[in-house]
Parts: sequence; structure tokens; C-alpha cells
Amino acid sequence: MLGNFSVGDYFKQEAIDYAWEFITTYMKLAPEKLFITVYTDDDEAAGMWQSSTGTPDERLYRYGKSDNWWGPPGAEGPCGPCSEIHYDFGEQMGCAPIASPSEIAAWIESGMKWEDQPGCHPNCDRCERFVEMWNLVFMQFFQDQAGEMTPLPKPNIDTGMGLERAAVIVQGATNVYDTDLYQPIIGVVGELAGKKYGEDHVADVSLRVVAEHTRGATFLISDGVTPGNEGRGYVLRRLIRRAVRYGRKIGLTEPFVVQVAETVIDRMKGAYPELAQNREFILKMLGGEEQQFERVLDQGLRIIEEALSTGTENSNIGILPGNLAFALYDTYGFPVEETVEIAQERGVSVDMEGFEREMKAQRERARAGSATKFGGGGSGAKIFKYRDLNAGPSEFVGYERLTAQTTIVALLSPDGDAIDHAEQGHEVEVVLRETPFYAEGGGQAGDTGTVLSLKGHIDIEDTQTPLEGLIVHKGRVRSGVMMVGEEVNAKVDRERRLDIARNHSSTHLLHEALRRVLGTHVRQAGSSVSPERLRFDFTHIQAMSSDEIHEVERIVNEQVLRNPPSVKNELAYTQALDSGYLAFFGDKYGETVRVVDMGLNDPEEATARPFSREVCGGTHLDSLGETGLFLITSESSIGSG
Ligand SMILES: [Zn+2]
Ligand SMILES: [Zn+2]
Repeated sequence: MLGNFSVGDYFKQEAIDYAWEFITTYMKLAPEKLFITVYTDDDEAAGMWQSSTGTPDERLYRYGKSDNWWGPPGAEGPCGPCSEIHYDFGEQMGCAPIASPSEIAAWIESGMKWEDQPGCHPNCDRCERFVEMWNLVFMQFFQDQAGEMTPLPKPNIDTGMGLERAAVIVQGATNVYDTDLYQPIIGVVGELAGKKYGEDHVADVSLRVVAEHTRGATFLISDGVTPGNEGRGYVLRRLIRRAVRYGRKIGLTEPFVVQVAETVIDRMKGAYPELAQNREFILKMLGGEEQQFERVLDQGLRIIEEALSTGTENSNIGILPGNLAFALYDTYGFPVEETVEIAQERGVSVDMEGFEREMKAQRERARAGSATKFGGGGSGAKIFKYRDLNAGPSEFVGYERLTAQTTIVALLSPDGDAIDHAEQGHEVEVVLRETPFYAEGGGQAGDTGTVLSLKGHIDIEDTQTPLEGLIVHKGRVRSGVMMVGEEVNAKVDRERRLDIARNHSSTHLLHEALRRVLGTHVRQAGSSVSPERLRFDFTHIQAMSSDEIHEVERIVNEQVLRNPPSVKNELAYTQALDSGYLAFFGDKYGETVRVVDMGLNDPEEATARPFSREVCGGTHLDSLGETGLFLITSESSIGSG
């Protein structure tokens, strides 16, 4: 949208002069193609159009409140008459001979309905002969709640012209897809698909949908929207998925959205430099969503085809069952609108009532099943919101460093709703592209610290992984405002992390010491490591004697005093087990695991087997001497076995 504004500065005369100058001098449109409309009793504006632009009576129309009045926006507020500039595409585009301004005025006066009026005119909605180019709003009154209007002491100007409409007119096109706003993008889509625009009506529709949706999605992501299942995120997801599906129709079976988006960015970055700044992020988001949808699209299509061809009772009468639409949504993330479209293309409709029933049942199930502190409480469905966030995997860099220069990928309210910014005092959950914050796991507490931008400051109070690959920082905005897409500095509370590391490293030493004192049947059954203390649950047949406790303490402290480095590596899981690393059966491990060597069996022999070897993703000290003194403060049995 193009426009100009005046807040208490220039008013009606200048606004009209500027608009006329821009359209006739800069856009070089012929004055005889321009039709002007004014509010029915705005004689002032009508007079100005006549005297300073030379618009003749036959191209100057008056309309009522529905066409030429703006505001107030609420129960009260500023308001005023508008004046519009319409472009005439020519008689051949008209639905009827043109009606004169006086005929229109008489028809409005008589209360005749639009559809009964016999002539064509600038606001005709039966044809596309005229297109409204520019709307000038003269905010000159204040209307109170009683509807009483008083003149504003300082009137304002607000104008708007659609860029795309302007492009269509200036370039002599008939629609926006033929302008240079879309042709280069459509060209790339056509190239990828091996189709030429304008040759085949059906293919043209797909080319336009792919170009238009990809362009829209590119801008939405640049504005900080991420694909999701609600609100703007859902609109974005629908755009991307529709683009993918229409791409399929013209033979685009390989990922293509990223390539199309690259053209969008290259074409538009001059006017929208943020597209270039966010390029990497935009392409990553689009690529991820496309890939995710590609994976499920074939399965989904197969399921639909199958349901239609085997002919359940319902599909025989042209209805796809609601529980099937729900299963597609629930399992494959198929937007139901997508299922409806696919079904429609095959002449089948979807049982939407059945779908809604299933949705409602799912919401109730989610509410009933409260889970972890991030997924649970009054927000049982929160886990779905995380899933739908599609924020992509967050990279954990906290083994090597405690700060990171990174980007906010998503912000969530405490209820898990995606938001685009958070202000001072607000509780917020933050997802970063990469993060030094350790998320609670393997018994180790989540990190705390700060996330800083030029404009704001969040205190991070906890870090969690509600979903595999997703690291969520929970905190509160201490000052300023934080926005999605912003560059930030993420900084872990170093002292606290060190305290946690002391306790975590001690856990490994304790584990091994227990095995040596009590026997190798001792197995870790769980643990809890915080800055203040560690708790280690293990399997043993009876309570420990005080001698045993002292011996365990002595062994651990001996290792600490030897002050050997702790060595961390990555190994294939099977190789780690073969090399004698202990794995905790309660944890889920990937193919490659992190392993930690700790302590020395023989202080004289640097190459000797380390004292302790464990598979562990936690954060540890670099040398055990930093541990300090190790003390067992209590030992108790939590059950038999
Ligand atoms: Zn018409
Ligand atoms: Zn560990």
C-alpha cells in the first residue's frame, strides 16, 4: 500500500494537488481516464477537483456514506469524507453505457438499489471497467458516542493506493499476475515445472497459486510468523502446503518452494531489505515446512484415494468420513481445508460434522491428560502447540561455550501460543536458533541466565525440552521488548552452571565409587542434579553401613584431589557400550552419544583406563579439582529391588 499522511499539517487542497501530480506527472496516466468521486455534500472537495485539476463535471461523481465516508473507527473518534480516484479501463470493459453523475445522484436520492440501477459508473460492482486507485481520507470531524460531529481543530490526511493495482494500470496489464510483480516469480515456477505461462489455462492456475502463495509465505516469515496450527501461523502453513500441492499438479515433485522464494527475495529486497536480512531464516523455515509436508503428502493422498476407491458406506454417496479427515489432520498434519480441497477435486465432500466431533474429543482428552510442567497444568494441549510451532531443531552449543550470538526463532506466551513480541514484565518462552542453555535432562537441572537484545532483556529462569530437538527457555522480560527474528546475545549464568557441573561430575564419581564398594550390580536408577545438591538413586539390596559411606566418600575425594581432566567425546552408541561406558537405561540415546571419562585409576599412569566412564549428555567440569569437598549428607532406601 502506498500513501501519504498529514497529522495537523497540510489538508484537503494539498492532498488533492499531490495525488493529481503523482498520478498524472509521475505515473503519466491520461487525465481523461481518471474519474473522481467525492462525498455527497463535500462541495469543498468537489470545487478543488474542478478548479485545480480541471476535472470536468461528467467525471466528478458524488456518493453517500457507504462509498465516500471514513470512520469513526470505534464508538467515537475522528471521521470525515473521502475522495477517490478511479481509473477507467474503457467502455469495452463496461457492463452498460455509463451513467452521468446527475443520474447517479438522482438514483441514490430515490433510494434505488444498486443492482436495479441501469448504468455503469465508477463504483459499479457488476463489472471491472473502473478500478479504484487512490483513496484520500479527509479526517476533519470528531464524532462522539451520541453521533454528534464537531470539526477537529487540526484535521488530518490519510491516503492509500494499492501498489498492485497501480502496477496493473501503469503496465497496461489486465491483472496483477501479468505485471512485473509476479511475472518473474511465475517465470521461475514455470521453468522448474517445464511449463510456459499463458499456454494452458489449468497449468496457469497452478503457476499463479505457487507464485502468489510462496511470495505471501516469504513475507509472513520475514515478519516473524512461523508455521503453526492457529492464527497467523495456520495461514502461513496453509499457504506453503497449498503451494506444494499445486506444484505437484504441474509436475513439481522435488522440493521447489525454496528456489521460488529465493527469486521473491531477490526481486523484492530492494524495497524490503529485511527480506535479505532474514534470508537464511526464511529459506530454512520454508524448506522445513515443505519437507515435512512432502513426507506426509503422499501418504495422505494414498489414504484418501484408498478410502474413495474401496468405497466405505459413506464414500459411495460422495462423502469422506470425518474420522478419516481427523486422522489425516492428527497424524499427518493435513489441514482439513486441504483434505476438503483434495476431496472436492474428486467430486467428494468431507463429513465436517464428524471431523469437528473428533476435534472436540481430542481437545477434551488433551485437557484431561496433564503432563510435565511445560505441557501440563491448565494447558494440556500445550505439547501440541510446541509440535505445531515447527521451530526446527535448536542447536545446543553449551558444551563449548556459555554465550551465543543468535536469533529468536519463536516466542510463546505461558499458554504456549506463538506471539511475535513480549514486553516488560511478561512471562515468555523463548526458542533460539542456537543456544548455550542446557535443557533439563539426564537428571541435570535446566540452565538459567539472560537473553539480551539492543531493545530488551529477558531473565531466563529455566530451560526445558518439551519435544525432541526443541529447546525452550522460560523467563520474564525484565525490560524493553523482545521480538521474533531479533539478534540476541544468550548468556548462561556461569556460577550456577559451574555449581551444577560440580554436582554432576560428582555423580559420575559417586556412581563408580558405589560400584567399587558395594559391587558392580549397583546401577543408576535415576538422579537429580541441581546447583545446591545431587541426589543419586541406585539399586542395591540393603542400606549402606557407615563404613561403606565413608569409603565411598574417601574414593570420590581422592579422585577430586588427583585433579585429572575430564574428557568428553562422541561415539557410536554400540561402540560406547563395547568400550565399557555405562549407560542409564532410563535415558533414550541417539545413534551417536556423548561419553565422559573421569578420574584416574593410577595417578602414575596417565594412559591408564579412566576411573569412570559414562554415556552422558550433561555438562561437566573440565578438571575434577574444581569440585571441592564431596560429602554424603543422607542415604535412604526408596523401595525394594
Ligand atoms: Zn459496470
Ligand atoms: Zn551424567
